[in-house]
Amino acid sequence: MAAPSPQSLVLSFEEARRVVEEHASRLVARGEEIVDLLDAAGRVLAEPVTADRDIPPFPRATRDGYAVRAGDLTGLPARLKVLGEIRAGASHAGRIVDRGEAFSIMTGAPVPKGADAVVMVEYTSQNGGTVEISRGVAQGENIVPQGAEARCGSPLLEPGTRLNETGVALAASVGKASMQVYLRPRVAVLTTGDEIVAVDTEPGPVQIRNSNSYSLAVQVQRSGGDPAILPIAPDEPARLRELVEQGLRFDLLIMTGGVSMGRYDLVEQVLSELKAQFFFTGAKIQPGRPVVFGRVECLGDSGRQHTYFFGLPGNPVSTMVTFELFARPVIEALAGMKTRPLNFLHARLKAEIRVKPGLRRFLPAILSGAYEDSQVELVPWQGSGDIAAQARANCYVVVPEERGEIAAGEWVAVMLK
Ligand code: AMP
Ligand code: MG
Repeated sequence: MAAPSPQSLVLSFEEARRVVEEHASRLVARGEEIVDLLDAAGRVLAEPVTADRDIPPFPRATRDGYAVRAGDLTGLPARLKVLGEIRAGASHAGRIVDRGEAFSIMTGAPVPKGADAVVMVEYTSQNGGTVEISRGVAQGENIVPQGAEARCGSPLLEPGTRLNETGVALAASVGKASMQVYLRPRVAVLTTGDEIVAVDTEPGPVQIRNSNSYSLAVQVQRSGGDPAILPIAPDEPARLRELVEQGLRFDLLIMTGGVSMGRYDLVEQVLSELKAQFFFTGAKIQPGRPVVFGRVECLGDSGRQHTYFFGLPGNPVSTMVTFELFARPVIEALAGMKTRPLNFLHARLKAEIRVKPGLRRFLPAILSGAYEDSQVELVPWQGSGDIAAQARANCYVVVPEERGEIAAGEWVAVMLK
């Protein structure tokens, strides 16, 4: 017997996002593993990375020039005795710079004791064992003191940090050839619809190739998850339920299609039969209004109490937008990241926008213009099924609920793709 459909629970965009963030903030990764440094890029750190020594480990010259005592340069030009040259990687053998003395020094080399500043080579001329200096320096100029960037033992990267090239470089700088990261969450991607056929099948005249499973798989990967594309589910409750149950054995199930109000939109019905708890069954957004978020008691062996699911609308642009707005934070949390707020950039609108107020809109757009002169304009589109228009866009213009008109030249919020 079919379970009744869940009560309609349509939230504002910000309420829906808050609900997702609240649940996400309580999720944890399913385990840890050790990976080589290079394989750690894109992964989420499961251990703290600390400085294994002072950084820099010695007072570091930041310019080519002369290591001097700033007090020697009060009368200009000053003539100092050159004791020798210190290159990066070379030591000064404990020689202390005394009054009236200097060392020629290269960028990255250790500043010798006694010296308290480096004068740039541009203000000097050396003649034999003497350098003439035409400009004074302040104490400490062009030197990074030992430990100024980090003290030995101090934290550099916290667990929960997603490693990019900077994180990997920082880890390398403290000698971590391998590191502990969280396991990627396994995310099932389930597409539904009688009209949907596999990419390698010749579609009939009214059939549509499955593209959503692919956009979702890419988005899952980019969010730190490991996608598994399940077989396409027909609009038939028994087979759909079988596949939904299969998907609920993963760390997260993302479905696409079958969540609108049509007679064959069976996803919510099947989930109700599985005693799902729904947090929302719609959000006041465009595209993507019928988005569904909920959870069921865990069926798999993950050790979790619940498995969360999303039912995303099937129109390709809606699928992509609702993933970014709602599914991404859950995957990031399951990947071990801390929940972070969604933030937007701002750009000037190139051409006016007119819409019906009442929905928060995320409209495909092109951000252009060079340097500080960013401008944004909507991509002409045929609505949320228009994947070709979406491909021309590089961002979304975010239109607030209360705005029906935004004039050219106004600053608007932009969400990057
Ligand atoms: P639905 O949300 O099931 O009502 O589907 C809305 C629209 O999205 C319909 O035009 C579907 O054909 C299309 N659609 C649904 N799933 C996919 C998919 N996996 N790939 C491409 N288009 C889809
Ligand atoms: Mg459908």
